[in-house]
Amino acid sequence: MKRIAECDLVVVGGGASGLMAACHAAMGGCRVILLDANRQLGRKLRITGKGRCNLTNNCSVPSFMQNIPGDGRFLYSALSRFSPQDVMAFFEANGVPLKTERGARVFPCSDRADDIADCLVSLCEMYGVTRLKTRADCVLLSEGAVSGVHTGEGIVSCQAACLCTGGLSYPLTGSDGSGYRIAQSLGHTVVQPRPSLVPLESEDAFCRELQGFSLKNVTLRAYEDGSLIFQELGEMLFTHFGVSGPLVLSASAHMRRFPASVYRLEIDLKPGLDAEKLDARILRDFAAQPNRSLRNVMTGLTGYSMAPVVLSLAGVDGSTPVHAVTHDRRAALVKVLKAFPVTVSGTRPIDEAVVTAGGISTKEINPRTMESKIVPGLYFAGEVLDLDAYTGGFNLQIAWCTAFTAANAVIKNLHG
Ligand SMILES: Cc1cc2nc3c(=O)[nH]c(=O)nc-3n(C[C@H](O)[C@H](O)[C@H](O)COP(=O)(O)OP(=O)(O)OC[C@H]3O[C@@H](n4cnc5c(N)ncnc54)[C@H](O)[C@@H]3O)c2cc1C
Repeated sequence: MKRIAECDLVVVGGGASGLMAACHAAMGGCRVILLDANRQLGRKLRITGKGRCNLTNNCSVPSFMQNIPGDGRFLYSALSRFSPQDVMAFFEANGVPLKTERGARVFPCSDRADDIADCLVSLCEMYGVTRLKTRADCVLLSEGAVSGVHTGEGIVSCQAACLCTGGLSYPLTGSDGSGYRIAQSLGHTVVQPRPSLVPLESEDAFCRELQGFSLKNVTLRAYEDGSLIFQELGEMLFTHFGVSGPLVLSASAHMRRFPASVYRLEIDLKPGLDAEKLDARILRDFAAQPNRSLRNVMTGLTGYSMAPVVLSLAGVDGSTPVHAVTHDRRAALVKVLKAFPVTVSGTRPIDEAVVTAGGISTKEINPRTMESKIVPGLYFAGEVLDLDAYTGGFNLQIAWCTAFTAANAVIKNLHG
């Protein structure tokens, strides 16, 4: 196959990590070629944070680590080189003003993810990154070290290649797992990719009945084999397959042992009231309208759709006039309102997940350089790695700091 170009570094993938790696390497004087078959660069980046891009979390390294479910220690070095505060300074210095919201989540002031992606694309252009609209098929070696990348158009000769191909989630954005195959063919181990930050499936019939019904200001608790593993206040919704929404996605990131472990959820529909206060509130509602049916009165407490489900789970007949509801039946209602049970049968498929857990084993990568310990000149950054985090801007921060670290290592290797 013909050689079509030559450069110092080929960056494979023009997502968050690829754009960051390409522009930093080019700023440091490397001749960079960026490969991505998508018409538009940063496709996934442009839909992050519901189009607003929660680009990092303005927190310290120790609190960052608490938001990584796996072994976060691999990231210490990269995070100290390009911390959340460095990322913020970088975008602000390059013309994107930022704001910090609840939970230290950082967004562009414009609320436009496009501004983050366009900033990186402009920097790549400004520093002379050549973009080839094609895919990488494999990395070529000469005497065991990287010497080129085989693409759909021909061979690009290079001294280093950085795989920034993402995971398996949202494959329509281009991340289809091809980076795993490329790395595997070079001797790297891929830790089984799994969905994380993903909607959950349930066989409970009421989920279908309640589909489209959303809950605000509820507390979701998740249990693994009976132990509490997650508890948070927020929003969620019922769907035709089970449950989804921000709380559910966050809970799913803690459920890492499907199908070996049994998971279940509980929704506290009235987190502002403890069981005693809730009972008092119900009694007040009953006293105000003693002859109305329980179903009617419950509607005021839970909403129209939810009332029959709560009554059925509590084993209470909704047609009972409230003056005839016994203490025991009321206690059963309070129990369901404080711990509405949802069984979990599994997650939605990985293509519906916000991130991919698993990926290239970090054991085979130098954490100070992101260079392969197996193939000299081969680097990795972003979601392709066996790293993932909870929601809050942590996943993009992983992409930025691993990309920055890889780019700096390439610059150092090539230019001393
Ligand atoms: C809906 C959604 C919302 C999200 N919101 C947030 C958020 O607000 N904050 C946050 O921190 N994280 C968020 N994430 C996660 C975050 O987007 C990812 O972790 C991040 O984009 C990973 O960056 P990446 O560069 O590693 O991979 P990607 O952004 O997936 O980029 C990979 C690129 O590689 C290219 N590619 C793949 N294979 C090849 C090949 N063989 N040759 C050439 N190119 C190739 C693809 O075309 C793609 O452009 C969100 C994810 C989703 C799906």
